[in-house]
Amino acid sequence: MKQRKIPLRKCVACQEMMSKKQLIRVVKTPDDTVLIDLTGKKSGRGAYLCGKLSCFKLAHKNKALDRALKHHVQPEIYEQLAQDFIKVEDEFLAAKESADDE
Ligand SMILES: [Zn+2]
Repeated sequence: MKQRKIPLRKCVACQEMMSKKQLIRVVKTPDDTVLIDLTGKKSGRGAYLCGKLSCFKLAHKNKALDRALKHHVQPEIYEQLAQDFIKVEDEFLAAKESADDE
């Protein structure tokens, strides 16, 4: 029996395992910038969150993102990320839905 392996990643906030496609990657680049990486290709240490603002907020609250990135994320960075997250949330969900249709 052949098994197709789908690489799974864990949302750092809710600990749910999901395929990479269903998660938003947050990356800490080598120059210590923390940003949302929709391409999934930026180098640096990455953390995954499901595309839900609630998970982002949870990761902020329990410092899951800090731990995953091994970096103290500054409050203003969180604010910036939250704004970006709201922006990409819609895009992300729309992309996911159209992918599901295929
Ligand atoms: Zn989650």
